[in-house]
Amino acid sequence: MKILVLNSGSSSLKYQLFDMAERTLLARGAAERIGDSGSRLVYGQQDGGGTFRESTALCEIRDHGAALDRIADLLAEDGAVGSGSELHAIGHRVVHGGEAFREPSLIDNQVIAAIRELEPLAPLHNPANLLGIEVSMARRPDVPQVAVFDTAFHQTIPPRAYRYAVPDEWYRSHGVRRYGFHGTSHAYVAKQTARELDRPLEELNLIVLHLGNGASATAIANGKSVDTSMGLTPLEGLVMGTRGGDLDPGVLTHLVRHAGVDIAQIDASLNKASGLVGLCGVGDMRDVLRREASGDASARLALDVYTYRLRKYIGAYMAALRQVDAIVFTAGVGENSPEIRERACEGLEALGIELDDARNRANATGARPIHRRGAPVEVWVVPTNEELEIAEETLRCIQRAPSA
Ligand code: ADP
Repeated sequence: MKILVLNSGSSSLKYQLFDMAERTLLARGAAERIGDSGSRLVYGQQDGGGTFRESTALCEIRDHGAALDRIADLLAEDGAVGSGSELHAIGHRVVHGGEAFREPSLIDNQVIAAIRELEPLAPLHNPANLLGIEVSMARRPDVPQVAVFDTAFHQTIPPRAYRYAVPDEWYRSHGVRRYGFHGTSHAYVAKQTARELDRPLEELNLIVLHLGNGASATAIANGKSVDTSMGLTPLEGLVMGTRGGDLDPGVLTHLVRHAGVDIAQIDASLNKASGLVGLCGVGDMRDVLRREASGDASARLALDVYTYRLRKYIGAYMAALRQVDAIVFTAGVGENSPEIRERACEGLEALGIELDDARNRANATGARPIHRRGAPVEVWVVPTNEELEIAEETLRCIQRAPSA
């Protein structure tokens, strides 16, 4: 039983193909710089030992339709998907599901119209996601296709956490509220953590820290998201590679009045030139850590701001949840950086959080505990896998759908 996962951006189309019987990855890759003179296909092939080797082929890819045709050719050549009948379903990542989508949805014209209606809330992402959906629906009308939303996991957040204390009209007329993102990752990591702890997810209170290029924290009570750090957009909350997270909204009016900047400049600065990049000039955590080690004061400051914000969110979500079973680090930084994990948890013994230095620094992969044995709150590293979660949600959705 094979499921193809597509993640469509404005100039890229990423794919992963899974065999759901074994939950194994069969193929993965991306069409990049679609519509540009440098367009290319990047694709991973498994060697005998099961590791992926990446190859790149420059080729003309005019649009998303051509990108999907190239990907289909690649999968056929590879023998991963042959005549087509073997493909069970296609799962699409969709960034914004607003209040309309609490669950993954089998895609039909109504669902497409609803995703389009949400474009004002995600002007960069939803149109790009729809591009992928539309070409895929046109080419494979025989295969059920499912939209899996980044926001859906957070639709259980109660009003006290999703409403901003601003004029009610902003919410009623413009949908101004917290939606939260990275939901697929938070949901996957919560499930994996329950498996590791060998306890039902419905009994667990967790704080999940997804620290990648984008970063967000989620408070999970009895297996459900009850608060998350990203808001109406992915700009709020933690410090990220190029986004600064929490900010006094007065900063923006101040800049418009006194620095002569316009909305487009503010938007670009908040999305691309803030966060670690804003503070020290580089956004990749490995670069920031290297610079700090070589004595760069701005890198040190950037890491101080980054880890202090993380510590504040851990404290806030401990208070929001009252009792916490485990704090879980995931995504590029969370999975790979013992330094960041250590600084985020530093001095939190009074809250029951104590890392074990050897476990935290062990050169390990996979899910693993890093707290001192016997500490009241467990701390774990649990690798995320958003594409596998999309594949699983897709399968669940088509098995539930009446036509399946
Ligand atoms: P994305 O959000 O794009 O999916 P990832 O989850 O892959 O990103 O995270 C990318 C971030 O993880 C980058 O800032 C990168 O520097 C960081 N990262 C990856 N490996 C390490 C490491 N060994 N130590 C510190 N940071 C790391």
